[in-house]
Amino acid sequence: MRNNSQPTPEEIQARMQEILKQGFQTGGGFAPQAESVETDEPEEVRQSKGKFEFKLTPREIKSYLDRFVIRQDEAKKVLATAVCDHYNHVIACQKGESLATYNKQNVILIGPTGVGKTYLVKCLAKLIGVPMVQGDATKFTETGYVGGDVEDLIRDLVHQSDGDASLAQYGIVYIDEIDKIASASNLTGRDVSGRGVQTNLLKLLEETEVPVRSQTDLQSQLQAAMDFQRRGGKYKKETVNTRHILFIVSGAFDKLPEIVNRRLAKSEIGFHGKPETRQEAREILQEATTRDFIDYGMEPEFIGRLPVRVACSALNEDDLFHILKNSEGSLIRQYEAAFKAYGIETMFSDDGLRAIAAGATREETGARGLVTVCEKALRSYKFELPGTEIRQLVVNREVIENPALELQRIQTDVQYESRLAMTELAREFARRFEQQHHLKITLTEDAVKKLVGDAIEMNRPILEHCTLVFKDFEFGLQLINRNSGQSEFTIDLNVVRDPQRALSDWVVHSYKPVLP
Ligand code: ADP
Repeated sequence: MRNNSQPTPEEIQARMQEILKQGFQTGGGFAPQAESVETDEPEEVRQSKGKFEFKLTPREIKSYLDRFVIRQDEAKKVLATAVCDHYNHVIACQKGESLATYNKQNVILIGPTGVGKTYLVKCLAKLIGVPMVQGDATKFTETGYVGGDVEDLIRDLVHQSDGDASLAQYGIVYIDEIDKIASASNLTGRDVSGRGVQTNLLKLLEETEVPVRSQTDLQSQLQAAMDFQRRGGKYKKETVNTRHILFIVSGAFDKLPEIVNRRLAKSEIGFHGKPETRQEAREILQEATTRDFIDYGMEPEFIGRLPVRVACSALNEDDLFHILKNSEGSLIRQYEAAFKAYGIETMFSDDGLRAIAAGATREETGARGLVTVCEKALRSYKFELPGTEIRQLVVNREVIENPALELQRIQTDVQYESRLAMTELAREFARRFEQQHHLKITLTEDAVKKLVGDAIEMNRPILEHCTLVFKDFEFGLQLINRNSGQSEFTIDLNVVRDPQRALSDWVVHSYKPVLP
């Protein structure tokens, strides 16, 4: 016989839904939160036709990038500054105040794969409201017949601007794998003519007029003819000038630290031997000069047109965890949305996020590994859970490390997920307490179990239960903190059993003078 005070699994689920909807969507909840959202956040700009605007400062751009991109502080600052210089100059030109000697702030971003190079550029373009295209340097050929033609990048910008060539001329072209077209690497037998492609790109970097319709593409020519007819025999702007297009190129430049190191060693300053830490590797790359890039196989004229250089660091496990937890563009959002479409609320626990980060680190593809790990673990959940009575999914360490076993547990015991969800909510209570009061409370496993068990028995939502159990803790712990400076507290089973008594014991103890 069921005990009357014991809620049914359906009741627990209904309550969980309520909690998730109310407290957790307004106040935060399991969804990753940006750590600090500044109040003077810049808004993403929507450029209006025929009138280009730019009013941002480097600091504003950096603070916007901070919301999405974790680490890469130096790259963010350098990019933010280069972008401001570039677009301020564009505005000056519009006013007829252009400098005759202005050097365009094209950028080289150096860094391994999956550390946020492309993401930085995408975020920048979104903020400024300009089109951005992304190309891979290895896809171009010298002639443009076999592979792509570098000019296609500019035409893609027009496409991205819905045919608005006047906006396309202020766009950003981002080219990855630029190190792969170093002429030295052609000796390894690659079938790209690196030098030729560099020369073609150089034309774009310098300044050229690119026809909006490709001369070699039949479809473009037909489209041009149709447009001509539609406009009653009037041609619209046919070319895009590349003068104001910002070029950002990137590459891993694996061997560059070695080249820089060798030069530095010769001149007897700086680092000797192989870089040991990622900080060291980045510092070495900061020292890279035009000469080093030329030694790498880049054409002097080409590299000369890319005056802004900055290195992004590799990401460690902790960084990957923060990407999941704090980036506004976190992958977690995607999974939440995917399950939500079937009425399933997803919660990623911290240990789950850590497990994903650990798995991704082993992939050695930077943040790209996060997708691989999540997909592998959650693929079967995406197939199996929709259409069942399961309404919550807690993605914890077990789900990531042993997805099949955990899925089986969830499927055979409906209460199992509800309990897990409540456990997570109890932990979330502790996290919120710390955020609000700057006092860390750590709940032991036993304590959490007891809180969850009591809440179920008392037919109370877990958050409400925690709030009641710890109602005097805010005041009490602050008092202790003032008396003794203690700011971390462990809540074990005994404390949960008799919170008032535990708290008063702690308070009394905090008045005792500290013995020498
Ligand atoms: P790459 O450095 O190879 O250009 P990307 O920028 O394309 O890497 O990274 C792939 C994805 O990984 C991005 O779309 C983003 O979701 C995530 N990512 C990579 N680095 C970061 C970072 N530093 N902060 C936040 N997300 C990141």
